[in-house]
Amino acid sequence: MTQTTSGAPKPATPTIIAQQQHVAETLPFADRQDFEDAHRGFIAALEPCVVRDENGRVVWDNDSYAFLAGDAPDSVNPSLWRQSQLNAIQGLFEVVPGLYQVRGLDGSVMSFIEGERGVIVVDPLVSKETATAAMALYRAHRGDRPVTGLVYTHCHPDHFGGARAVLDQADVDSGTVPVIAPAGFTEHAVSESVFAGTAMARRAGYMYGAVLDRGPRGQVGIGLAQTISTGAITFIPPTVDVTETGQELTVDGVRFVFQLAPDSEAPAEFQFLLPDFRALCMAENATHTLHNILTLRGAVVRDAHAWSKYITEAIDMFGDQTDVVFASHNWPTWGHDRAMKFLAEQRDLYGYLHDQTLRMLNQGMTGIEIAEVFQMPPALENAWHARGYYGSVSHNVKAIYQRYMGWYDGNPVNLWKHPPTEAGSRYLRYMGGADAVVAKAREDFAAGDFRWAAEVLSHVVFADPDHEDARELLADTLEQLGYGAENGTWRSSYLSGAHELRHGSFGTPTVTASPDMFAQLSAEQWFDALAIRVDGPRAWDENLTLRFDLTDLGQAYRVTLRNGVLSHTSSAAATDADVTLTLTMPALTALLAGQIPPEEFADAGIKLDGDAGVLGRLLGVLDEPDPDFAIVTP
Ligand SMILES: [Zn+2]
Repeated sequence: MTQTTSGAPKPATPTIIAQQQHVAETLPFADRQDFEDAHRGFIAALEPCVVRDENGRVVWDNDSYAFLAGDAPDSVNPSLWRQSQLNAIQGLFEVVPGLYQVRGLDGSVMSFIEGERGVIVVDPLVSKETATAAMALYRAHRGDRPVTGLVYTHCHPDHFGGARAVLDQADVDSGTVPVIAPAGFTEHAVSESVFAGTAMARRAGYMYGAVLDRGPRGQVGIGLAQTISTGAITFIPPTVDVTETGQELTVDGVRFVFQLAPDSEAPAEFQFLLPDFRALCMAENATHTLHNILTLRGAVVRDAHAWSKYITEAIDMFGDQTDVVFASHNWPTWGHDRAMKFLAEQRDLYGYLHDQTLRMLNQGMTGIEIAEVFQMPPALENAWHARGYYGSVSHNVKAIYQRYMGWYDGNPVNLWKHPPTEAGSRYLRYMGGADAVVAKAREDFAAGDFRWAAEVLSHVVFADPDHEDARELLADTLEQLGYGAENGTWRSSYLSGAHELRHGSFGTPTVTASPDMFAQLSAEQWFDALAIRVDGPRAWDENLTLRFDLTDLGQAYRVTLRNGVLSHTSSAAATDADVTLTLTMPALTALLAGQIPPEEFADAGIKLDGDAGVLGRLLGVLDEPDPDFAIVTP
């Protein structure tokens, strides 16, 4: 990729400045309750709030957000600025006596529930290093309590990645400390990083703005938190599954009542009441932002309808026993009445999005049309926690359309469109060539129509990626869209696009798949993971059959490559094979991870019977995913 000469971020244009002023004048900035809540119960801060890994590399630096003081600068939407100020408040806080939180030490919040003998930890942050810092901060002020339980509210890495800072291997081996999670947790935790992991990680680099400088013209926060730490993601599998709503557990003398919420913010998630504390944990289903029905990094579309109903169920089941509601992001809400108002508004937020999108799509509107006219009721529009800092009304509405209707909007014109490069060259031919388009786009940029300027300039860049003026103006345009965005992930995405147009690809700055997680893959998941790496055209003349006898599991699989498809079965009848490998599951994991070359098979305890060349032919048709694929350029 070629690089443009200039590179520094530019100032906000008058259009954006006027837009920011409008936001400052129309939203209820005089309401400072959230600041009171985000500071309430403060015990101590981590100073400096910088966490390093064992090699001294900084994996978390909350102090880099010290610029978030005073009123918003022209280049940041005042509403996002306010949210970032709140999320950057860090330290150890008391929620109620015996219940504590460490906030601002990572992209999520870690909670501590004190029991009779020790402390139960809920959601140990993203990485081992930040979780270690959080444990130390907690213990410095609450004593050196042993960990008597570990709870994962759901299967996203920001809720389990620091597990090995909480429990050591002896705890895990002895099994004396329960590790509690919703049913389906491990399968979902690992499956996301297997199938689409490479593409999601590349796109996550955009939405989190990992390579952007922190500052008024750079990354200011992602709405749900400030950013994600970049330390070691670890994994300890759960030992206790919560399988039904209403299930109760007593851990270290602390009573939990669970409510399962599958297919809400995560495929495996639960909420729980601590009746003795009159505290309700909503996991990630009621936070101080409109959340994502479909996250910008990509995911399976979530169910807004179910999400809303789980909040209703929580109010019904736990409402009269709740005096404070907390989550694994942002700050708690205290007082029964305020907590119930908060939950009711969160429920209505997801319910309204769902129902109105369906109403409008049944009138024939498409996702892009619904998003353009969709308006939240005034009460939700003015509730800070319901604003779109992480999810947005615009992209959530399109996600709900997608969940029910798919990618196709029903207009056959859109059935068979040219891809971006081919379309771009044709647009340019009709519009008088690249220079003419750039000249017109410059007028739209000056007039503040950044959405349109971005669209036409993208046609130029895809048709003619070396057109310097087009690239530069597209970067400037995306930058203005970023400055104006209330949503933290939109801002990061726009500014990341501008960054790549100016400086070239930054690839995938943060890799989330870790060895601990790969060790959790089942044989089936490994074969599935291999299957999606088979280069179809290269493999479609191959006809191979391999048998894997897993001695430690007492299980056998037959894997067949035919017509470019790698399929597997554990059927007892499927015995014939070109080659049979007899090995253990850890050896299979190492073999398929490419860690054992054939000459070391014997040493690794792998026995091979039959045509030895078959394994090599299978590995030979596997493709490597590309963590550096282009996004804003062809
Ligand atoms: Zn989370």
